[in-house]
Amino acid sequence: MAPQESSNAERPYLQPYRQPNSQLASKAASQLASQPDHQSPSQLVNQPLHQLYRHWMQRLLRHCNRMGHDGDIPVAAVVLDAKNRCIGWGSNRRHQAQDPLGHAELIAIGQAARLLGDWRLNHCTLVVTLEPCPMCAGALVQARMGQVVFGAPDPKRGALGGCLDLADHPSAHHVMGVIGGIEAEAASQQLRLWFKRRRGQTC
Ligand SMILES: [Zn+2]
Repeated sequence: MAPQESSNAERPYLQPYRQPNSQLASKAASQLASQPDHQSPSQLVNQPLHQLYRHWMQRLLRHCNRMGHDGDIPVAAVVLDAKNRCIGWGSNRRHQAQDPLGHAELIAIGQAARLLGDWRLNHCTLVVTLEPCPMCAGALVQARMGQVVFGAPDPKRGALGGCLDLADHPSAHHVMGVIGGIEAEAASQQLRLWFKRRRGQTC
């Protein structure tokens, strides 16, 4: 199959619900009601996926709020299986573990693959608070991740539509759905505050 024609020039950067399945996206968007945020994942599984992704994003952001004092940029990720059960989890540990591969996404997909006993994650969704970097976006394509949902866009280093788009690249032998901008303002604000605090500490 010929790679999809790149349409970066025409595609507005990070439309909130960009993914191959536009029906699902519009359904989820239309059903996004003012429902309470504090529901358990099991309550949400049968509800619109958008609600589920918001729920996980909020949980991840609450976790990120508690980290960030150990030198690592507060970014966290989960992998959900085909039934939207959490099968992998990770947060940035590059500084803490002195591991250049210690990004939240890599830790989460490693856990998920070990749990499934399969390196192919076609039926899984990764939810992460920040748009993945080129290393993680490349790993997600290699892992055949079914879908990626991220919070804050990263125009400088993001590799799913920010500075480049590895999901929509001739080298991508796999179609990976991407949804950007879930709880984007909260996620971006949290990172801005973290960087501001860090600059304050180093002055
Ligand atoms: Zn990364």
